[in-house]
Amino acid sequence: MHPWNQALRQRLMRTPEHLPHAILLSGPPGIGKQALALDMAQGLLCTASDAQGVACGHCQGCHWFTQTTHPDFRLIEPEVDEETGKQRPEIRIEQVRDLVDFFALTAHQRGWRIAVIAPAERLNMAAANGLLKTLEEPPPRSLLILISHHPRRLPATVRSRCQQVAVSIPSRSEALDWLVAHAVPIAQVAALLDEAGGAPLAALALYGDTARSERRSRCLVALAGLRPEALLDLAAGKDFLVETHGWLRRWLHDLISQILTGQCHFFSSQRADLERLAARADLARLLALQARLDSDARILTHPLNAPLLMEGWFIDYVDCFS
Ligand SMILES: [Zn+2]
Repeated sequence: MHPWNQALRQRLMRTPEHLPHAILLSGPPGIGKQALALDMAQGLLCTASDAQGVACGHCQGCHWFTQTTHPDFRLIEPEVDEETGKQRPEIRIEQVRDLVDFFALTAHQRGWRIAVIAPAERLNMAAANGLLKTLEEPPPRSLLILISHHPRRLPATVRSRCQQVAVSIPSRSEALDWLVAHAVPIAQVAALLDEAGGAPLAALALYGDTARSERRSRCLVALAGLRPEALLDLAAGKDFLVETHGWLRRWLHDLISQILTGQCHFFSSQRADLERLAARADLARLLALQARLDSDARILTHPLNAPLLMEGWFIDYVDCFS
């Protein structure tokens, strides 16, 4: 449970008996929505929680909860495919059927039955439909918490049956303090937080991903140095397509805004490079490449040929400068 979600938690848990039966926690990834949902669930299932509904951490309920064996709690996530070892793209109807059965049973402890679905936009259509009846006629003392990074992707029938609660991105100073407290070097926190769109957990994950951060440095050095061979080298590996797209897009954004307003937003530590490049860039070409990247965003998850796609971006990029 993260400090910036504390106030929201208190508001939601003030009168547990008045909690709605279904809550949709929405907000960008990496701001602790799932931790908030789990914390609320543990607080409700704890047999010795305090006046604010904070779990004691010692009772049988807490013990079961932390061991993920609490009989009155379910966490529904996309299953891991045993063959590939990867998470399946969807939450399947079978998982929802089990959940419906779970809610139909009588609770073992104190009466609450709680389930968290994360992320809810991964429910496939059949699974979402399978959930409707439970959302419509929930058994007493049941709570279903849906977590969503993209609530608009949920069917309106599901959304409308939930109480929507927006979880916000923490203030910048709060996020920076938290990252420093989690051993991220001060010199890197601001850049990581920018790249993560202000989401602290996402920034922390970026910091832990060394392959990605090495790749990012290589990419930025090649973009700043306008080195075609280094750029084509980056394009040759088909990995990091989505990331490369993101870095180039933000780099272009900063170049264009450097030209138009003299400001940069994402790469302030590389202001000198951006100023130097902006002075010799062709604005129309930069804008054309930006439009191309926007349109290519749609095919990133299933590109026909990732290296060719990246090569095209980089060739256009080098052409922007005289
Ligand atoms: Zn407890």
